[in-house]
Amino acid sequence: MTDIYGITYGKLKAKLTEIGEKPSRADIIFPAIYSETPTAIAELTLKKETTEKLSGIFYTGELECMKVLTSETADKYLFALGDGNTVESVLMKHEFGYNVCVSTQVGCNMGCAFCMSGKLKKRRDLTVSEMTEQLLAIRRISGKKITGISIMGIGEPLENISNVLDFVDIAMYPKGFDIGIKHITLSTCGLVPKIYELADSRTPVNLAISLHAPYDELREKIMPVTKKYRTAEVIEAAKYYSEKNNRRITFEYVMLDGVNDSDECAQQLSGLLKGMNAYVNLIRYNDTGNTAFRCSPHERIMGFYDVLKKNGIGVTMRRELGASVNAACGQLSANCQ
Ligand code: SF4
Repeated sequence: MTDIYGITYGKLKAKLTEIGEKPSRADIIFPAIYSETPTAIAELTLKKETTEKLSGIFYTGELECMKVLTSETADKYLFALGDGNTVESVLMKHEFGYNVCVSTQVGCNMGCAFCMSGKLKKRRDLTVSEMTEQLLAIRRISGKKITGISIMGIGEPLENISNVLDFVDIAMYPKGFDIGIKHITLSTCGLVPKIYELADSRTPVNLAISLHAPYDELREKIMPVTKKYRTAEVIEAAKYYSEKNNRRITFEYVMLDGVNDSDECAQQLSGLLKGMNAYVNLIRYNDTGNTAFRCSPHERIMGFYDVLKKNGIGVTMRRELGASVNAACGQLSANCQ
């Protein structure tokens, strides 16, 4: 039996053909299972023999919601998976809509020093249906229309690229969540070969790269992935992505007091990004109990911001969402905006 929420529209059509059904039945099935009140397979408005056949192949799965922490700006959800693992997602509440920060793995192996989520080693990748069902469950529980997705929760999404691409395909289905590609952002710590693979996949999501330091020696200390993929290689891959997909790249930069927040770092960062179709998103560090790091003081963040501005680098400072519900997703909660 297969969870139907793990199959794309195109793959469902192929499956229907394979079992001797008209592929056009997908146009009845998909809108029904992704409607705001989803229909179970057995209740689809199809011939009885067809629903019986489909019921022997597919089921409509559901995540069990164990806990919801709510605040004015964000709600954090804890879901139980079928195998006893748990996963977190965050609903970020903006003036312009509701954005879900989706997790892609149980735990993470990337070991970023500032990340609480990364302390739990990766147990496994999430399946496509486990990602889709994060959206379904949050839409059902919150009653909100989801208008954007940040693939920035726990895990490194590009380690699970095949499932993530199918998930994006499903999220974009027009009679389902109908989320436009420009409202879907994927954040990576910089898996260089996978950035090229994503660039060539014809799925031009917004790409955010967690940079957090402008040179290898410093970046290695806070992001061990730098030992494998050097900062210059990450920048080259980002340029390729930007040019291939005509997209502006976001470089995430978390402000860590006395670590990466000097004017010199800002100068080096400016040099690295000069001429790129990119901007820097400065993130206030959300102190979730990790005593090794503190957020830079406001004046230091402003000083860093000014250096980037003077050097002609696009820079934003996002308000911190979700701190009160400890909405610390993998790439930091403040990214989920
Ligand atoms: S920041 Fe992201 S990539 Fe780094 S350890 Fe945390 S979850 Fe993994």
